[in-house]
Amino acid sequence: EEVDVMEFCEPIFDAIKLKYPDMHFTYHVDVQNNMVVDTTLLGSVFQNLIDNAYKYSEVNKRFLHVDVQQNKKNFIVKFTDRGIGINKKEFNSIFKKFYRVKNQFNQQGSIGLGLAFCKEIIDFMGGEIKVDSVQNEGTTFTLLLPLGPKKNKE
Ligand code: ATP
Ligand code: MG
Repeated sequence: EEVDVMEFCEPIFDAIKLKYPDMHFTYHVDVQNNMVVDTTLLGSVFQNLIDNAYKYSEVNKRFLHVDVQQNKKNFIVKFTDRGIGINKKEFNSIFKKFYRVKNQFNQQGSIGLGLAFCKEIIDFMGGEIKVDSVQNEGTTFTLLLPLGPKKNKE
């Protein structure tokens, strides 16, 4: 499905504000092309990353910035929070099924499938998901999504 980037992002961004009114949320979108994506699958990836940003942040540090850009080959979507961060040693493990970092934010109700799901979807789309993080400062998840063949509008 071919969608306008803002048409895809806007309902998600609106939903963030409703779901997490106590999170400081900002975004920046700077793209020319339309995205050729499975909106349901990509929407679920966004949802998982947004839920994590909220869940793994201290109450007074709930912050999320979403940045959407493109280069010649990819859409680049970055999710940056100011949460508890992730130790570099865990960068590979967190994408594995049922893997959860041991911390006080990991209570019941989560099973450690969110990022494994995200990675499967992004791999399936021919893209990449990366993490960068500093403990006690915050985390950025980056999605690289290949630009699809651009259809001419009729
Ligand atoms: P689920 O998503 O299935 O509800 P989960 O959130 O524990 O459970 P993942 O989303 O796969 O599982 O994340 C794996 C682990 O990575 C988490 O347990 C958490 O410790 C860590 N993590 C994920 N996102 C962040 C983040 N934004 N900041 C800090 N830690 C994170
Ligand atoms: Mg999760």
